[in-house]
Amino acid sequence: MGLTGETNRYTVDNLMRVCDSLAVVGSMQFGISGPLDCHVYAVRGREAAVLIDSGSGTHTVQLLRNLGRDFPGLPVSALLITHCHADHCGGAAGLRTKTGCRVLTPLSTRAALETGDEEMSGLRVAREQGVYPPDFRLQPCQVDMTVEDGQKFSEAGVEFTAIHVRGHSRDAHCYLARAGGRTWLFSGDVVFYGGVLGLINADGSGMEGYRADIDKLAGLGVEGLFPGHGLFTLCGGQRHLDAAIAQCRQGFIGRQIGQGDLIF
Ligand SMILES: [Zn+2]
Repeated sequence: MGLTGETNRYTVDNLMRVCDSLAVVGSMQFGISGPLDCHVYAVRGREAAVLIDSGSGTHTVQLLRNLGRDFPGLPVSALLITHCHADHCGGAAGLRTKTGCRVLTPLSTRAALETGDEEMSGLRVAREQGVYPPDFRLQPCQVDMTVEDGQKFSEAGVEFTAIHVRGHSRDAHCYLARAGGRTWLFSGDVVFYGGVLGLINADGSGMEGYRADIDKLAGLGVEGLFPGHGLFTLCGGQRHLDAAIAQCRQGFIGRQIGQGDLIF
């Protein structure tokens, strides 16, 4: 698989508009792009779209076709990456080349993505665990701008704030967005619907990170919660964040991703 000769079992162009200013343009779980893709969101800003995560890169052409159906003629100005796992950032290079968008990552994600480093990104181990096929590689991608914890920035007229929450991975960031008068959180693999944590059996993942950082997600007044996998919601998102925070205060490990959920 790859950008040329893309193996495509998704023969129709998909429409998955969530609301006026948001669409899901890639996702393995929703069956609209490749089998290694996280949810890829497109936020419609002023005269351009901002993408949140890239998917793995195996179905970038399909993803852009979906975007064209959701928001016809809208260019992509920026791609925000939540962390360096390949299902979230592997498509960055292809999207940057095909759309001319700027790629923004957390500072702590930059080196792994720019070099395609399989240790830093956890790809070598994940491949050995069978998450990725033997021939899958992380395509290196130049990063145009890095963001750090608490940093506010604007893309296509949409205000974003980067929030660093360790626990799923060392570099995991969420992006708080104000779009159309609403408050949304793109939570990557940090927190999922129901307050499920993104704790995994991999280097860099652990409760220590969650205990240290999860309180940053308190009191944000989040309405829409849009994680990198599974369900999302347009309202009451803060409840799910509060449930995650409560779990991190308990003496036992709570609900984690992968417990009965088929992610890939
Ligand atoms: Zn991840």
